Amino acid sequence: MVSNSLIDPHGRKHNYLRISLTDHCNLRCFYCMPEEGIEFQEKSSYLTRSEIFEVAKTFVQLGVNKIRITGGEPLVRKRADEILRDLASLPIELAITTNGILLDRYLPLFKEIGLTNINVSLDSLNEEKNLLITKRDYYQKIRNNISLLLDEGITPKLNVVVMRDINQDEIIDFIELTKHSNLDVRFLEFMPFNGNKWKLEKCFSYQEILTEITNHYGDQINKLEDSFNSTSKNYKVSNYQGSFGIISSITNPFCEGCNRIRLTADGNLKNCLFSTEEFDILTPLREGSNIVPIIEDCLSNKKAVKAGIQTTDNNIETLEQNRSMISIGG
Ligand code: SF4
Repeated sequence: MVSNSLIDPHGRKHNYLRISLTDHCNLRCFYCMPEEGIEFQEKSSYLTRSEIFEVAKTFVQLGVNKIRITGGEPLVRKRADEILRDLASLPIELAITTNGILLDRYLPLFKEIGLTNINVSLDSLNEEKNLLITKRDYYQKIRNNISLLLDEGITPKLNVVVMRDINQDEIIDFIELTKHSNLDVRFLEFMPFNGNKWKLEKCFSYQEILTEITNHYGDQINKLEDSFNSTSKNYKVSNYQGSFGIISSITNPFCEGCNRIRLTADGNLKNCLFSTEEFDILTPLREGSNIVPIIEDCLSNKKAVKAGIQTTDNNIETLEQNRSMISIGG
């Protein structure tokens, strides 16, 4: 049951909290980490293990029943295993988004705490192109770890950011992965964040992605039913084991069903991925004050669509005021 504290002025119930554990990562994807890097903060500026647990408990008492762990790369955070165990003790569905490099090391823990909702970010099936995008050479390790999950009977979701003239030519290759594997491939439209040099022309749209797919598979494409809060529009190729979806934040947003609120690693709440307005809960938390009024304030200021911000080229200045993707966690 979601309390009024988690209901925004548009009647949306926020039962899904995304917690970024860190803004550090072992990759340097150019659409996430600005080329010039980011300024890391003092250690004391980040939520500690017990503070993360305390905030999560408060949200669960208010009605949150799903928590997704993000980063940067959450598994590079020191004591990530202890934080995950803490959160797994709460009455929630626990999920994680990772770049997959450290999955083999954490798989025993995931199995122990029942964490099977795993999203892995992988933007190319071409080793060289992967190096170009991530600036690190972990492609094989990530592929092996995805196979490891499948061998364990875990169905990962693959998150693929589709960027024009970079990887839209691999859309069919990614879908072919779902032929014999129970994988869920999600194609994300390229989104603007601080320092990622976004331009609308670089965004390969939902319609363009669907056209590529329909041109190739014709009437073998079946539309799946999407849940009200779903971020992706989901499909399946006939007789293929897995499925695919398209997340169209730029050209076909899905804000009417938004149930997400975000907590950054340095203790700020964001009521929307695109919001430039943030609500500090770390300071009051450390002062021993009640954080519920701040949660309510954050949600009562939530706009209907994309924080009221146009994701267009003539709005780059405003879009650049947001954080970089690496310090939000998607
Ligand atoms: S753009 Fe903002 S309001 Fe819309 S679905 Fe994403 S987080 Fe929710």
